Amino acid sequence: LTIVDDPLAARLRSIVGETHVLTDPAVTSSYTVDWTGRWRGACRLVVRPGSVAEVASVVAECARFGAPLVPQGGNTGLVGGGVPAGGPGPGSVLLSLRRLDSIGPVDRDAGQVVAGAGATVAAVHQRAREAGWDFGLDFAARDSATVGGAVATNAGGERVLRHGPARAQVLAVQAVLADGRIISRISDRAAGGPVKDSAGYDLGALLVGSEGTLAVITAVRLRLVPLLPARVVAMLAVPTTDAAQRVVGLLRRRLDTLQSAELFHADGLALVCSELGLPLPFPEEHPTYLLVECAGRADPTDGLVEALAGATEVRDAAVAADAAGRAALWRYREGHAEAINAAGVPVKLDVAVPPAVLARAESDIRRAVRAAAPSARVVLFGHIAEANLHVNVLGATDVADAVTEAVLHTVAGLGGSISAEHGIGRAKAQWLHLSRSAEEIAAMRAIKTALDPAGLLNPGVIHS
Ligand SMILES: Cc1cc2nc3c(=O)[nH]c(=O)nc-3n(C[C@H](O)[C@H](O)[C@H](O)COP(=O)(O)OP(=O)(O)OC[C@H]3O[C@@H](n4cnc5c(N)ncnc54)[C@H](O)[C@@H]3O)c2cc1C
Repeated sequence: LTIVDDPLAARLRSIVGETHVLTDPAVTSSYTVDWTGRWRGACRLVVRPGSVAEVASVVAECARFGAPLVPQGGNTGLVGGGVPAGGPGPGSVLLSLRRLDSIGPVDRDAGQVVAGAGATVAAVHQRAREAGWDFGLDFAARDSATVGGAVATNAGGERVLRHGPARAQVLAVQAVLADGRIISRISDRAAGGPVKDSAGYDLGALLVGSEGTLAVITAVRLRLVPLLPARVVAMLAVPTTDAAQRVVGLLRRRLDTLQSAELFHADGLALVCSELGLPLPFPEEHPTYLLVECAGRADPTDGLVEALAGATEVRDAAVAADAAGRAALWRYREGHAEAINAAGVPVKLDVAVPPAVLARAESDIRRAVRAAAPSARVVLFGHIAEANLHVNVLGATDVADAVTEAVLHTVAGLGGSISAEHGIGRAKAQWLHLSRSAEEIAAMRAIKTALDPAGLLNPGVIHS
């Protein structure tokens, strides 16, 4: 089958128009490599529908052709789930949802908004803020990551401690099933729809974290949170991870304004400063750093400073309440992913452990990586309130499976989860059994088979 004669491409062109079916590998290649450069593949074609009706027709047509489909939003996912694997045969159709980027009017009194799956997280922030509300989900990839991708991966990020992960922001979902039928709990009328809904199974909730394996999400009705315009950020130097946890515990007990608590270490900070050309934040180096953010209607700075007065383990602190100063401090934390990428292609793992064993998990993970890849460089950082560690290993792509095996077994042995917020994707599919029992995996497979009997939606993702 050559690409020019592909009858599926011709059918899809008749649905979405000439310009929205891409077959030239020089053009499609940007869709088939992930943000880190570790996951690369190939696809049969890229199709970019512009409405839910077009998505439904595209999916139905692919089903008729028996063509596997890989949904993709902003392609910022970190587990290879939005990038087709490639390999023999005509390959998968890459279904880009980015054109579904409309955002409806904010329901100002109820605090909800309908966003197309392709709207970026940053665009939803903006729409919500213009209406005096805010969107509770936030992370560094906000300008590219889409609402559909965030919901499909149950993304977490920097405000989970206050607002919960993507799951907690979803009121209702519209989606296209594997055969092209549409399911929707989103009303066509204004921005509305019920805020409470217990009428049977919550199919939208089932799609949260389904990584494109059960249906294609086309729109989401999102819960908004109050806009808290007064913010303060503090970067704190502490001696250990245990100390960092104690400081966060104290702040959580004393402050109702705390919304972020991020952890990183001297090695990560040094990499960020050298790769991104930033000045060191403190005159002396410290083993561990915490970045905290508080937000309120009134300036939360005094409350934070007062609460920190009781935190004897804080060795140094930088505090910023103005926008430029806050952004400069956040750069030390949010710059981690970018600095690691600049230093090489990382093996990236995202895990959560019971908070009580976080420090032990860090040292066990470092030891496990050393055993699997003695010359590799490990950078750990993460969202400390959920004991969620991002494990980044540089110089180990040739032994990626051995490193993954070692880290995930270590985490499972500590009673943790092999994926805190990035999902399973392709990267961790063969290790799902470390976090899910045989009974759970059987139930998940039964759901997959019921909704996608031909196995066309994102094959190889979640289920190996
Ligand atoms: C710099 C950086 C920082 C990040 N920080 C965080 C963080 O703090 N917290 C966090 O949780 N994640 C983080 N991520 C990971 C990533 O941004 C999130 O997983 C994000 O939600 C993915 O959105 P996306 O639109 O890019 O999805 P994609 O990468 O396009 O897809 C991700 C998965 O969702 C599926 N999918 C996408 N759209 C749909 C749809 N409409 N319907 C069905 N399935 C779909 C894909 O098939 C794939 O399996 C970060 C990534 C980067 C690059």
